[in-house]
Amino acid sequence: MFERPDQLEQWLPFLLKGVPLPLTSSRLLRNRRGSLAVDLGTANTVVFVKSEGIVLFEPSVIAINEDTTEVLAAGTQAKEMIGRTPGSIRAMRPLRHGVISDFEVTEKMLHYFIGKAIGKRRGRPSVVLCVPSGLTGVERDAVQDAALAAGAAEASLIEEAMAAAIGADLPVAEPVGSMVVDIGGGTTEVAITSLGGLVVAESVRVRGYEMDEAIVRHVKTSHGLLVGGEEAEAVKIRIGSAWPLADDETAEVRGRDLASGLLRRSVIAADEVRHALTVPLERIVEAVRATLERAPAELSADVMQRGLVLVGGGALLGGIDRRLQAETGLAVTIAEEPLTRVAVGAGRSLEEPRLHAGFAKGRARRRRAGTTR
Ligand code: ADP
Ligand code: MG
Repeated sequence: MFERPDQLEQWLPFLLKGVPLPLTSSRLLRNRRGSLAVDLGTANTVVFVKSEGIVLFEPSVIAINEDTTEVLAAGTQAKEMIGRTPGSIRAMRPLRHGVISDFEVTEKMLHYFIGKAIGKRRGRPSVVLCVPSGLTGVERDAVQDAALAAGAAEASLIEEAMAAAIGADLPVAEPVGSMVVDIGGGTTEVAITSLGGLVVAESVRVRGYEMDEAIVRHVKTSHGLLVGGEEAEAVKIRIGSAWPLADDETAEVRGRDLASGLLRRSVIAADEVRHALTVPLERIVEAVRATLERAPAELSADVMQRGLVLVGGGALLGGIDRRLQAETGLAVTIAEEPLTRVAVGAGRSLEEPRLHAGFAKGRARRRRAGTTR
């Protein structure tokens, strides 16, 4: 019953006195056994372990042998295989389009990551998963089952935007409107929270990684070069920006010449990249505006006054705060360590379920592995 000496210490006085444990204690004990929060992102999967912090941060990629359906690698190792695999091996991003495109593969990936995070820890942890908000009921069940099959004692789900808001330290439980904007690889989620719930949520789903693909298209038309998505992403991370920055840098891109078919290099400037990102950036601005418009007047007034917080990898794009500020008139703050806020927020919701109305509504459920589907 007690796996750590400090737990025994805590309850020893009750046990010695023969006093029944308080009602809440079984839940406390269960939580103490270990809790895991998993942010299953379109680009990255992040795992947070209670009282340890982030234990896993890897790309949401899996490599599978298509003949045997055997998992060969996942995460960083699998990402290196993209575009480099022989015929029967496929390295893929099962969540690439913001929704789960191949469910069985997603399950396998989740199983791999949870297994890796649980590692040699003793006992079965409870797991909370943040999943893209557009999942169907069947998909939600299947994600939970995958977590149970991977060794979780129980698995619950939390809306990604709510986890983001909690992780960004917004006062989600209070009767005040707080806006969070989560710019991920395949989706941007904009939400306003109040009293422990999501009052308005807007999700911009794009086909693939819109920013990276916009750069691919630009390099093709302006440089006559065919580059891959990963190369375009690297350029975006190196010199991408949403607002003119002081030092206008350049980067080298390598690709296949459209005319000759030969490999060639070209130099691309930061302002070109910024220009190429116009459409994806406008869609983010639009989502913020639409969310404000859909919100009840009191809550939009709160947001106008308090501004918004940015999380997700897109928050690291140079000058994104200034761009959003200029176009929406809202004060913009970039959360610290924006890539891990969702996982941290989900972890915190396990510790303080009252933060989040979703749990009170009984979204957490308990099932035995293998009893469904
Ligand atoms: P998801 O939640 O969809 O998995 P993340 O929040 O992990 O997404 O963010 C991943 C995205 O952030 C990727 O599209 C990646 O290219 C982008 N990203 C990461 N670092 C930077 C950076 N420094 N500048 C711009 N974009 C970045
Ligand atoms: Mg995310």
